[in-house]
Amino acid sequence: MPRRNRSRRDEPRGDVSKIMGGGVRTESYAGRTYQVRSVRGNNAGRTYVCPGCQGDLTSAVPHEVVWPDDGLGDVTDRRHWHTPCWKARERRPPRGSYR
Ligand SMILES: [Zn+2]
Repeated sequence: MPRRNRSRRDEPRGDVSKIMGGGVRTESYAGRTYQVRSVRGNNAGRTYVCPGCQGDLTSAVPHEVVWPDDGLGDVTDRRHWHTPCWKARERRPPRGSYR
């Protein structure tokens, strides 16, 4: 009979910052707290929509990955921003697509 309590403990518990590695910082935006990680870009070939400008953002370019501090663990809360758009976020409020 296998011991159940063993495998349970090894499961990732949804700590996004741990999964994504270091370099996560906390920044505020529109009165809320977000965790932000700068990524250098990768060859995953993904295309995201930047919440700042609603433009395409390919995963190949350096950008910012942002997610709500209170939404830890849910990767669907992550957003990919152009770095300049994130820096100018207070001047470019999201247009309804960002919680
Ligand atoms: Zn943008």
